Amino acid sequence: MRRIDTIIFHHSAARQVSPLIIDEWHRLRGFCWTQDRTVQLRHIGYHYGIDTDGSTWTGRPLAVIGAHAKGRNSHSVGVLIQGDFSKWAPTAQQLARCVRLYHDLCRALRRNLTVGWHRPHLLAILDSGPFGGAWERLNPCPGSLLNRHELSRELQAARPY
Ligand SMILES: [Zn+2]
Repeated sequence: MRRIDTIIFHHSAARQVSPLIIDEWHRLRGFCWTQDRTVQLRHIGYHYGIDTDGSTWTGRPLAVIGAHAKGRNSHSVGVLIQGDFSKWAPTAQQLARCVRLYHDLCRALRRNLTVGWHRPHLLAILDSGPFGGAWERLNPCPGSLLNRHELSRELQAARPY
């Protein structure tokens, strides 16, 4: 098992999307973690997804390196929270599930995971290129209507160790 010390949260920047569709997006981006065609989600870059109603699904196995946060994939677990939190807030069920998932993962990995976000800050200053196509890079992930400060506090309170 690889060493995992960090959990990184994302939003989908969309209405709830089926994991099969996300798998297709990630196939087009060249993400593929197994040649075994009997595996249903063999491209998806995230390890877990949390739907609007708080239910979860599994993407990549935890033991497999994710494809969700450049430079931080090798030692992290990637969690997608469904929704566009630049436009609306996550549901109470989603936030509660984040806390439970965090607790469960810390227990399974026997350490308190550091909490990370994909792109917590606006990166507009770094983007000196032409403006076209820069939209995504100009937006934080997850969007700012997910209260990162408050969720961090709740996750810290859920630390088992
Ligand atoms: Zn992201």
